Amino acid sequence: MEYGKKPGKETKQVDYEELIRREILAITPYVPGKPVEEVQRELGISDVIKLASNENPLGPAPRAVEAVRAAAGGMHIYPDGDCFYLKEALSESLGLSPEHLLVGNGSDEIIKLLAEAFFHPGDEVVTAEPTFGEYAYAVRLMGAKPVEVKAREGIGHDLERMAEAVTERTKAVFVCNPNNPTGTMNGKKEWEDFLDRIPARVLVVVDQAYLEYVEDPEYPDGLAYLESGKKLLVLRTFSKIYGLAGLRIGYGIAPPALAACINRVREPFNVNLIAQIAAKAGLGDNDHLAKSREVTRKGKKQLYRGLAELGLEYLPSEANFLFFATPFHSKEVFRRLLKKGVIVRTGDIFNQPRYIRVTVGTEEQNARFLRALKETLAELG
Ligand code: PMP
Repeated sequence: MEYGKKPGKETKQVDYEELIRREILAITPYVPGKPVEEVQRELGISDVIKLASNENPLGPAPRAVEAVRAAAGGMHIYPDGDCFYLKEALSESLGLSPEHLLVGNGSDEIIKLLAEAFFHPGDEVVTAEPTFGEYAYAVRLMGAKPVEVKAREGIGHDLERMAEAVTERTKAVFVCNPNNPTGTMNGKKEWEDFLDRIPARVLVVVDQAYLEYVEDPEYPDGLAYLESGKKLLVLRTFSKIYGLAGLRIGYGIAPPALAACINRVREPFNVNLIAQIAAKAGLGDNDHLAKSREVTRKGKKQLYRGLAELGLEYLPSEANFLFFATPFHSKEVFRRLLKKGVIVRTGDIFNQPRYIRVTVGTEEQNARFLRALKETLAELG
């Protein structure tokens, strides 16, 4: 084709589906929470709140903001590919050597790196259903097979059945604790029984994205099992309680030999300079952490009360979001809430079409969400 010539009817269409890797066709693209600006643009409303992606309603850790301002003039320099100073700070706060740590462009990246490093076509990887969609995505990307084990009614991961689902083809199991989207938690006893049953050759990933919100003393911290002899990878993120979702930074903790394998597939500069600086500063912002925890704790109570008053069932949550059912399809509820300027997440993407996932916001945001939901339910009759 000549430059500047628009493709006309005579141009032969390339059949990209013939060129693309077969595995990719099996992947359902990830549906992110709708951005505020998109809703403002599409619906022409200015006052929009987003309770769709489990972000921190108090914003970023103020110490991180300060550090980013101070560092902005240095962004012409490539970041430190090894995240030396952030790893040093993390290693001090966790009491582990830096060799245990992997930093990623969000913990999403670490999930993908693990898959790239370890999953072959034909491997099986056990996950729960419903759970965070990135696990199955990464598994499919590599041509491996997700084996999804249904949750116990209203309880979250069925760890017993997940252990039973492990075969000689199983390469890894993913445990999301607390689980997204249900907010449910698996306690120490069942987690330890589960771990005992997993063969030593199988990788065990425990995703603790919402760890900082957990209040139940029976919560098993993945770090306590690093020396268990299992091939354990613990995932954490700066996107949630630290309020740095927009910068994309998360990390993994694993025995050094496992961390080194995953490091082999990492891009040299996978974590940007600003994110590294913000995360290190945010890590020390205990005041922001305490405030965020408190707002979420109170907000959850407010939402529990509000949902109960509307006669709706919800799952008690150990995270900063709630999963609840209405008598209507979640897409319909979502659309109507959107028109009232409230963005939530539909359960249909998690195969739970009657459920809605809502992030715990500030007191005012929660009240607005409850008002909008009440109106929506009245409209739908
Ligand atoms: N794990 C879980 C359970 C999550 O809910 C999320 C965020 N939606 C992530 C990982 C990814 O977080 P990050 O922003 O660090 O990629």
